[in-house]
Amino acid sequence: HYLEKIHEYQALNIYVEVFAEEALEKAHQLEQKYRENPAQVGRLFGAVVSIKDVICYQGHTVTAGSKILEGFQSLFSATAVERLLAEDAIIIGRTNCDEFAMGSTNETSYYGPVRNAADPTKVPGGSSGGAAVAVQADTCLISLGTDTGGSVRQPAALCGVIGMKPSYGRISRHGLLAYGSSFDQVGILGHSVQDIALTLEIVAGKDDFDATTTQGLVPPYSQMLEFKGPVKVAYFDTAVNHPSLDPGIRAHCLRMIEWLKAQGHTVESVPFDYLDYIIPAYYVLTTAEASSNLSRYDGIRFGYRSPNTQTLEETYKKSRTEGFGREVKRRIMLGAFVLSSGYYDAYYTKAQKVRRLISDQTNAIFAEYDFLLMPAAPTPAWGLGESLEDPVAMYLADIFTVQANMVGIPGIALPVGTHETGLPVGLQFMAGKLKEAELLAFAQQIS
Ligand code: GLN
Repeated sequence: HYLEKIHEYQALNIYVEVFAEEALEKAHQLEQKYRENPAQVGRLFGAVVSIKDVICYQGHTVTAGSKILEGFQSLFSATAVERLLAEDAIIIGRTNCDEFAMGSTNETSYYGPVRNAADPTKVPGGSSGGAAVAVQADTCLISLGTDTGGSVRQPAALCGVIGMKPSYGRISRHGLLAYGSSFDQVGILGHSVQDIALTLEIVAGKDDFDATTTQGLVPPYSQMLEFKGPVKVAYFDTAVNHPSLDPGIRAHCLRMIEWLKAQGHTVESVPFDYLDYIIPAYYVLTTAEASSNLSRYDGIRFGYRSPNTQTLEETYKKSRTEGFGREVKRRIMLGAFVLSSGYYDAYYTKAQKVRRLISDQTNAIFAEYDFLLMPAAPTPAWGLGESLEDPVAMYLADIFTVQANMVGIPGIALPVGTHETGLPVGLQFMAGKLKEAELLAFAQQIS
């Protein structure tokens, strides 16, 4: 079924590689395993999962949507992938994404853009655009993406599927191609909250290969979906009335607020002083981390090496010049600039301080409220090519998702209806650190 769907939707450019034969063979093996002893099969028995092209899968190519890693094979699997396989999931392919997960439209991929299944002239969002459309077009049950500043929640919203980013440290980052290490998290996209809850409980948890993972047992999220309301929900007037917010999406936010109140929940506007500082601080910090993380792609150790070079320095320079795309180069340069000795304090240190202020005020809100309601994206999906020439405008469009990554808290985007253009609309809820069980139960209640 899924392979047929992949074939049917080939023109959307969802996958950079489909493991067709391997997936079928695995399915047959699993069938055999079930016949031998039905009690022995894993909790994701036969579940078909796709993985974003920044997640390592042993013996398979991984490129981060970049020419610089063309043909590079993973020597090991990401911890998340190992845990899926241990529960008998089937990995069906690698999904297209923005180059090194940098972007909000999936148009910076070396493999060309992904198209939104709701309207193929529109972007799917990004950077996990392939992952979102993979679920939207029903080419898999579950998709693993990554979310550094909204890359799971924003494309989920633009494609009308569910996308969750857990707390920082909830899922191991071992085996992810790093972008901004203090922001990156694996996120899960799916058709239902139950599927996401079960996948999360399987892939989450302590990992010796990632010292930032949360210690202790993982709650059985899929068995904790019974909702115990009523709850207290906060929102920001400044977000709901943000000048960048499309009126149709604002109407969905207001409707959600009224509906929640009618269900007996407390929904209140709370002050937040830093909304307009989130994006500048995020792009200083993530480009700084990216410039450091991406220094390893030097033409020597991985992937692409420029063929016509004489000296070592020339090899570095030409391999990076030819291997990286425009957006990645822009960010490496910006990151190297904000980390340079003359500007470090003015930009990098300042942005760290802003991050702390944002975290403190956000955590103070969660001392009083269970959830924070936020749009996921300021507009529904826009036309392919429309935002490419204005990177700053594209950065600003991340205003509603980046807060969760700045603070390290979980967030989930849920489809809530249709825009007047006919395109899907998603809204987002965030919760306090490690409150995934509560967030999922609430999401289950709403969706
Ligand atoms: N759009 C944001 C960026 O380009 C978020 C990307 C992501 O979460 N990977 O940085």
